[in-house]
Amino acid sequence: SKEQGRNRYQWFTSSMDDMVIEKVNIETSIRKCLANDEFILHYQPKINLETGATYGVEALIRMPSYENGLIPPSSFIPLAEETGLIVSIGKWVLDTACKQNKAWQDKGFAPLRISVNISARQFLQEDIVEQVRQTLNDSGLEPKWLELELTESIIMRDLEDTAEKLQQLKKMGITISIDDFGTGFSSLSYLKNSPVDILKIDQSFLKCIDENDDTNEAIVRAIISLGQSLQMNVIAEGVETEGQLRFLKAEQCNSAQGYLFGVPCDAQAFGEFLKSKKQW
Ligand code: C2E
Ligand code: CA
Ligand code: CA
Ligand code: CA
Repeated sequence: SKEQGRNRYQWFTSSMDDMVIEKVNIETSIRKCLANDEFILHYQPKINLETGATYGVEALIRMPSYENGLIPPSSFIPLAEETGLIVSIGKWVLDTACKQNKAWQDKGFAPLRISVNISARQFLQEDIVEQVRQTLNDSGLEPKWLELELTESIIMRDLEDTAEKLQQLKKMGITISIDDFGTGFSSLSYLKNSPVDILKIDQSFLKCIDENDDTNEAIVRAIISLGQSLQMNVIAEGVETEGQLRFLKAEQCNSAQGYLFGVPCDAQAFGEFLKSKKQW
């Protein structure tokens, strides 16, 4: 209709044009990076707060670009989800992370559990469990050295379908964690019987912990004790200060991750970090 025509016309303001161009550019970059194997993984250590040792590592994707250096995932993962390109990206991440972890083990480093972020669309694929199994086979990595990080919204979306997939992954020996825990809507009764192994406290709750933020402190304490009740481990992410670390140790949080221990870095730099055998 005429009305719609006018509305449609109004949509195409110059800023809308810019947004469309921007999206096309990002999509083109994603396709180029996939085709040329140009994506990069950065790695960030996870620390066991009882022993002070690095026990795990999270793989975090970066997209290189000539004009803007390394593009963070927040700038391209949403579009990758929208276009479905996340499926190919996700396969690449899983494959690369497993192979890298095996390579570190073959170099003689103490074995680490590597965690990979799984997006909603990726997890919804019918053959996701088979993909993971195949990737582990191809890389030669044992399942116990792989962890998948899923958000609450993914886990709570289709409870039956998800539970079935999670059970199968767990049966293979893979560790499952809930990322950004506390920001979504987990059903506690579901968690009680779920295959989830680890609650990962969202980093927003770590803010101001060492400045006596009573609300955040209460939330972090509550999640830690929830984990204890459910016999799940709890990890805090976004730990940047000694004060936050002291608080987490005092509350008997199992593990932690954040700039205090190490910023995400490329595979070579992470190898150097491992060589230093730093203890906390
Ligand atoms: P996330 O999984 O919650 O990852 C934590 C984010 O916090 C990372 O940002 C990490 O670099 C950052 N971070 C770590 N320590 C600290 C700290 O002490 N302080 C602060 N302020 N930030 C810290 P990054 O790498 O930009 O990733 C952002 C999000 O993008 C991730 O959030 C995850 O949801 C998504 N993502 C990253 N890699 C992948 C991937 O391979 N696949 C998928 N599907 N999503 C990914
Ligand atoms: Ca994560
Ligand atoms: Ca997180
Ligand atoms: Ca997050």
